[in-house]
Amino acid sequence: MTTEVQRLSDNLLLETLKGLAQQERELTVRVLRHLREVERRYLFARLGYSSLYEYVVKELGYSEGAAHRRIASMRLLRDLPELETKVEEGSLPLSTLSQAQSFFRTEKIESAEAKREVLATLVGKSRREVERELVGRATEPAKLIREKLRQVSPTHHALNLVLDEELLQNLEEMKAFLAGSKPGMSLKEVIAYCVGKTLVRERARFSKPSTCEIPRADSPPPVEMKTKKASRYVPAQVRREVWTRDEGRCTYRDPRTGRSCETRSGLQFDHIHAFALGGTQTPENLRLRCLAHNALAALDTFGPAKLARARHRRAAR
Ligand SMILES: [Zn+2]
Repeated sequence: MTTEVQRLSDNLLLETLKGLAQQERELTVRVLRHLREVERRYLFARLGYSSLYEYVVKELGYSEGAAHRRIASMRLLRDLPELETKVEEGSLPLSTLSQAQSFFRTEKIESAEAKREVLATLVGKSRREVERELVGRATEPAKLIREKLRQVSPTHHALNLVLDEELLQNLEEMKAFLAGSKPGMSLKEVIAYCVGKTLVRERARFSKPSTCEIPRADSPPPVEMKTKKASRYVPAQVRREVWTRDEGRCTYRDPRTGRSCETRSGLQFDHIHAFALGGTQTPENLRLRCLAHNALAALDTFGPAKLARARHRRAAR
């Protein structure tokens, strides 16, 4: 059975495909605009996701790399909307935009003019050419090439990382020290040896009874309150009680879908009745929330303007 595509003449096939590729690029720009609005309204958090990235992967079904490229590109186009036409034309693909966005963040370039100047040199270049251009401009090239960790078997992972000259020399020196007792070690074995030794030392340090606020695997880690006011300090006993009750994870649950966040990283003690509005430091008024869901609660309580001002103040510190 011949398909509709198989019946097309060569010319029509090529022409149709070209048109579809154009439509795909236009659609991509529309996807990015919608993504930007989802982020602006914080809707990913309302749906129970702890980040926009998690939402894009799990809810929209993009691969991890595709999600990263779309989010990075969306943020760059938010600052430089005039580049949308270049994406639609195909002269600035998402891979170039996300590479450029990583470069701007690493190099702390904020001015739109400086970004435009760099991007002008990247138009029409391949991924490798873009990387060469950006690495050539970077003050610390090693920072620009992202560390990659991927699982290659149920028990093994491959790590791709860029070492600067100093770290490589330190590793080689360590290898030479160990050569007497453990000849022929690979760099991986040197790293494993050093990490193993350090871990034994750190575990011994943390297991000593102390008033120190460093987390242990079997006890609630302390969570830094994002304020300098002592009155906002949550007593250790209360923190421990809340942590145990909430099982060390974010408690946000989307009331409509029932989706729970359950993130275990970057947790904060969130006041159910806001502290600024007289909420108490009691276990009943506290709950564990990840950064996104703590911010969502603040958004619902104080509104976007006040939350934006608070973020701006934090960023300025
Ligand atoms: Zn959360």
